[in-house]
Parts: sequence; C-alpha cells; structure tokens
Amino acid sequence: MSPNGHLFMAYLTHPSIVASLAFVSFLIAVSFIQKKNKKEYSLKAELEDLQGRINIASQQLEVEESRSRALRFKLRRYDALSLFTEKLNQNLSLDDTLAMLLGQTLILLGHEKTICMVYSVDSSSGEVVLEAAKNNTTEYSFVKGKDSDMFNQWVVKHMQPLLVEDTVNDFRFDIKKLKTAAAFPIGSLIACCLVSQNSPRGIVRLDSPYAKSFTLEDLRVLNTIADIASVAIDNARYYQHLKELVVKDSLTALYTRAFILEKLKEELQRVNSATGGLAVMMIDIDYFKQYNDLYGHVAGDSVLKNLSAWLGGYIKPKNAHLGRYGGEEFLIIVPSCTKQEGFSLAETIRSFVQEKKMMVRRKATAITVSIGVAHCPQDAASLLELLHKADTALYEAKKLGRNRVCLF
Ligand code: GH3
Ligand code: MG
Ligand code: MG
Repeated sequence: MSPNGHLFMAYLTHPSIVASLAFVSFLIAVSFIQKKNKKEYSLKAELEDLQGRINIASQQLEVEESRSRALRFKLRRYDALSLFTEKLNQNLSLDDTLAMLLGQTLILLGHEKTICMVYSVDSSSGEVVLEAAKNNTTEYSFVKGKDSDMFNQWVVKHMQPLLVEDTVNDFRFDIKKLKTAAAFPIGSLIACCLVSQNSPRGIVRLDSPYAKSFTLEDLRVLNTIADIASVAIDNARYYQHLKELVVKDSLTALYTRAFILEKLKEELQRVNSATGGLAVMMIDIDYFKQYNDLYGHVAGDSVLKNLSAWLGGYIKPKNAHLGRYGGEEFLIIVPSCTKQEGFSLAETIRSFVQEKKMMVRRKATAITVSIGVAHCPQDAASLLELLHKADTALYEAKKLGRNRVCLF
C-alpha cells in the first residue's frame, strides 16, 4: 500500500469518521424506508378508494338493473293490457267478454292456484252473484249461485279496490267467520269494483290460498282491468239487449217472424231423414177477433202472453223452436220428428189449449186453436214450399170447423 493509501485507511477508520458515516447511512436508510412506506400507504389508499368506487358502481348497477327489470315487467304488463283492451273491443257477447276477462286477468296477475272470479251485482236488490270463475288448470266454468262473502260486501260498500295481503292478520276481516274457508282457503286476495254510471255492477277478484301473493302494483293493474272491463261488460249487455229487441217479440218474448224463419233455414240445412226429418206446425187462434171484441184488446194480449209462455215451456225439452209468426199465429219447428209424431204433438197442444181456462175480470174464458202440420222431406224440401203446405193444412183445419189439427 502507498503512504497515501495508508493515510486514507487511517482516516476512514477514525472513530469520529466511522460514526459520521454510520449516521449518514442510517439517515439514508430511514429516508428510503419512509419513502417506501409513504408510497405503499398512498397505493393502499388509492386501492381502497378504487374498491369503494367499484362497490358504489356495482350497487348502482344493481339498482339500475332492478329498475330496468321492473320497467321491462311494467312494459310487458302494459302491452298485455293494451292487447286486452283491443280484444275486449272485438268481443261483443257477454259470455265471451267474461271469458276474456278471466283469462287475461289470470295471465297478467295469476300465480299457481290463483282463482279469478267475476261477480255481478243486482242493481235493485244489491245481491252479489258469481257469474264466472277460472283458475290456471281448469277450463272456463260459468258457475251460478255460489255464495258471496264479506270481502265482496266491502268492495260493493266502499266501491274501492281491496288488497288483503294476509287474511289471518287483517284487522278489517274475521276470516274465521267465512263459511267457505275450508273448501276454498284464502291466504290473500285482490278485488276491484266494476262500476257503471256511478253504481257497483260487479266485482273482479283474484284469490290465492297463500298469504302475500299480491302487491299494491298488482292491485293497480287489476283496477285498470276493472275500468276497461266495466265498459266492455256494459257494451256487451247493451248489445245483448239490442239483439233481444231484434230477435224477440216485445209482447210475447218469443222469436220474431224473421228470426224463426232464419232458424227454419238453418234446420232445413241439416235435416236428416234417418232421424225422422222435420215437422213444422202453424198455429192460429180461432175467432180471436171475436175474443178481442168480447173481452177487450188487453185481455187478448194477455191470452197471447199466456199461450206463448205455455207453448215455450212445452217445447223446451223437445229441442224445438217457437216463434210468433203473425198477430195470433205461431210457428213451431220440431227437428228429428216424423210426420206422425208431429201430428201427435200438435194434438196435445190443441187439446191443452181447449182445456185451459183464462180468467178475465173474474170470469173464466177459453180459446181454441187450429193447427196445420207439414213435414220435410215427406211434403216439401224447400222453406217456402214447407211453409205453404203447413199454411194449406191450417186453412183446411179452419175450413173443417176449427179447433182441429190437419196434416198436409
Ligand atoms: P179465425 O182465425 O178463426 O179465422 O178467426 P180470427 O178472428 O182469429 O181471424 P184472424 O186470424 O184473421 O184474425 C186475427 C185477429 O187477431 C185480428 C186481431 O184482432 C187479433 N190480433 C192480432 N194481433 C193481436 C195482438 O197483438 N193483440 C190482440 N189482442 N189481438 C191481436
Ligand atoms: Mg190469423
Ligand atoms: Mg185466427
């Protein structure tokens, strides 16, 4: 080693220099560790911050997703509701309207074992009667006469939508008082009033055997359905009334001449000689002008009503059709009937009318009828020919002295 090298070594190993060097090294190490810790700390903070942001973002995503699910669900419901409105506008018969109402309500709001019911409310007596019911497994069943209950009474009284989430714990109703609870257990239900001209006309209701099957949103949807259905049911009833006015005679409530002739046309299209063919009876009251002159037109009207009601009851089980053909003339169509059977039926009618006493101002009065019978295919094949032959036979009965049946 050179003298300078020795000197430098001596300098380095000098205690004060060694101590200074150690201190400097210590300071460098401390500063390095501090820097490292600081960096680690800031990275950790950044990481936590990022994690927090990820959490918030995923929570927001969940909220957004559930909102979008709810919106999609609502959209589907509104689509189904608009389809329902469209369908109800196409259907004019009352039975079709009720079937549509039950089916669509179940599609929109039904669950497993949910039963949907439509009740009618009698406008004068207030009686609530079950008109139709359906669940997801059975076909439409038009069950009349099933008892109404306290839930319906509430809806009719308040004319408000009703949600019972849990029938056992609802303070408004005592489920133990429900007689039908054993046969039809109800855990929860929703019901809305069908209102027309500010009066309760019916109820649409969904029952579930389980508690908490329905929500407030379900009730809102049912209320919209009830609003749409009220108008549709009103229209259907009005249409049915109009149809009856056209089809039914106002005095006797029998089919009008035009309608009974339509029936005859239909029956002639499916007439089958293997089942006996078809008989037509033309009935005319004897000397009815005299009866009117003697007892008055009102008494005459009452005779027409009584005779119509009796004839209607008599032919019902025979699958026959009855109409008011003219003033005091009636037409009866009997499908699956031989000419001889037609004659026997006509004889029964004639002899019954002869025996029947009708009271006018406490005086017993009676009428008789003459009947002409014609048969398809035995006497005629076409409608006009058949009517002409029945009329000819009737004319014959009149000519022979009345109160008798003549075959063509
Ligand atoms: P016949 O048939 O035996 O020959 O004698 P008729 O007196 O019954 O004669 P016709 O059948 O031609 O007369 C019909 C009469 O029926 C005329 C009218 O006074 C009466 N008439 C028709 N429509 C009604 C009605 O809606 N109410 C009442 N009260 N009478 C009616
Ligand atoms: Mg006549
Ligand atoms: Mg007559």
